[in-house]
Amino acid sequence: MPPQTCTACKTRPALYHRQYSGETLCKKCFAQTIEDKVRQTITRYHMLQFDDHLAVAVSGGKDSLSLLYIMAKLHKHRPRTTLTAVTVDEGIKGYRDQALQIANALCKKLNVPQHIVSFKDLYGLTLDEMIAQIRKKNNKLTACAYCGVLRRKAINIGARQIHANKIATGHTLDDETQTILMNIIRGDIVRLAKEKPITSEVHPLFVQKIKPLCEIPEKESALYAYIKKIDFQDTPCPYASEALRNDIRGMLNRMEIKHVGVKFTVQRAMERLRPAIEETAKKENFRTCIECGEPSAMDLCKACEMLHQMG
Ligand code: SF4
Ligand SMILES: [Zn+2]
Ligand SMILES: [Zn+2]
Repeated sequence: MPPQTCTACKTRPALYHRQYSGETLCKKCFAQTIEDKVRQTITRYHMLQFDDHLAVAVSGGKDSLSLLYIMAKLHKHRPRTTLTAVTVDEGIKGYRDQALQIANALCKKLNVPQHIVSFKDLYGLTLDEMIAQIRKKNNKLTACAYCGVLRRKAINIGARQIHANKIATGHTLDDETQTILMNIIRGDIVRLAKEKPITSEVHPLFVQKIKPLCEIPEKESALYAYIKKIDFQDTPCPYASEALRNDIRGMLNRMEIKHVGVKFTVQRAMERLRPAIEETAKKENFRTCIECGEPSAMDLCKACEMLHQMG
């Protein structure tokens, strides 16, 4: 059977059937739709101003590298925007060191400067060292619970170190819907309201975060990386299996097979619910951590509290 023809250009052979829209696309048209979608998301949520210094959080995985690639492309049409890649080195032996090399290679290829912040420099310990200490104390929290809190803080500090006024992260539609369900399961109303495509600054030390890939399914971000020949790290983090997120990812993927487009449905439902939830979340007052001086919901920030538990 001859290959199907692309429904967009009607000339080239198709490579991908986008079930949720009915399109069947060739490589070139597929990549174009991804870049167009990212551009639309940026406009829709007013994510960028012409003179922004954007720190792109780059881990070495497919999503963040696809994001860097697309932002570097868009950057050509925004000459007054500054672009810098920020990479957090958590200190995960045999995993993050490999990712750092991959991220660095793409930064060089795209001519984007890279700034690295490490857990060891910021907190005095690598994640591996922290987890070894936590396990000795029989603490039930997962590695990802620590890593998530400490990494968010590290990216924020890293962006400030280079005087960036915005941080772009590679969160995809899948990450967004997983986070929504995780926050519902945990009953975390503040984070449910706060996790949105563009954050509202609640503390002068918080650098505003944007998520230009939030309307791109994860498998399309992977296909984009493949088409653009972007080398990325595909071995999973050794701590990943501990995460609740993994189970939710599996559940959502199974639902998506049966109910095509359900991830978009969850995202849109959240958009409708958010205004009501935001009213409650606004009551949370951000202050300054008494120990490190970073923004915090309590007197002691979550990162400092976790570091105390290890000490
Ligand atoms: S899987 Fe968990 S421990 Fe590994 S990098 Fe991600 S959040 Fe950190
Ligand atoms: Zn085409
Ligand atoms: Zn603190």
